[in-house]
Amino acid sequence: MHPFTISYNDPNVRRKLLKRKLKSETLLLDGATGTELERRGVDISLPLWSARAILDAPETLMQIHLDYLLAGANIITANTFRTHRHNLASSEMGDQATTITKQAVEIAKKAVRLSNTSAFVAGSIAPLGDSYTPQNTLSETTLREEHALMSNILMSCGVDLLLVETMNTILEAVIATSAAISTGCPTFTSLVCGRDGSLLSGESLYDAAASLLQLNPHAILINCTSAQDILSPLQDLRTYTKLPIGAYANVGYLNEQKNWVQTAAVNPDSYAKYALTWSQAGATLIGGCCGTRPAHIATLRNLLSL
Ligand SMILES: [Zn+2]
Repeated sequence: MHPFTISYNDPNVRRKLLKRKLKSETLLLDGATGTELERRGVDISLPLWSARAILDAPETLMQIHLDYLLAGANIITANTFRTHRHNLASSEMGDQATTITKQAVEIAKKAVRLSNTSAFVAGSIAPLGDSYTPQNTLSETTLREEHALMSNILMSCGVDLLLVETMNTILEAVIATSAAISTGCPTFTSLVCGRDGSLLSGESLYDAAASLLQLNPHAILINCTSAQDILSPLQDLRTYTKLPIGAYANVGYLNEQKNWVQTAAVNPDSYAKYALTWSQAGATLIGGCCGTRPAHIATLRNLLSL
């Protein structure tokens, strides 16, 4: 090979390229994986939830990634949201965390190869407990051990970035982000805000951002908040940092009775109109969370002229 040939197969080259693009481009993330698996008939019942698809429906999972790539996603997220050892242990599969996580990353990488794009693959690092019940947060020791293990496994799989996502407490966001950053891999951290713009724990977004900024992540985002509610915390976030910021929202929200209320954002055109306001507020990482589909990403790409 010519010494100056850039090898896009080298994770370090790709990570550098990602960091460069982050400074100058808007990058599209993918949309939901869990709800899309369910829509395509894959069992995502608890406790394994979306992790079950890695073993039972790898082709469907790969096709979902591929559909997001063909829709224009620049970054797809491997289906590692529920592959922490701690989560798999509830199905007697804790000892397979490394194998299952690797399979999930390989499925995402295969989709990128088939798409003939140079899209990036993110490894998802999610909260250990239920995303919507921050009071269930586990001991600090467990959080540290599990997020360090997950970060190291994902790094060894050669992901291009670590996406610490759907974080609902400052403590877990800081522990997971710190574990991710210590691998040397580019790290984005995404927080869930409630309808009032605070974290689900009740802690303020300002305090969360202040704690995270001390760790030097590469971007801070807000996700799993309804499309109609995400602009306000995003605008707040813009005033706290000059780092790249982003958003990927839900097409609905949980009401006080914990029932899912779908909003107009279920329609891709409506979702994209919300997303345009996020872009105008300074977001340069934009995608979709629960309930979004490849059509949402394709519509985003057109409206944002990417
Ligand atoms: Zn979500």
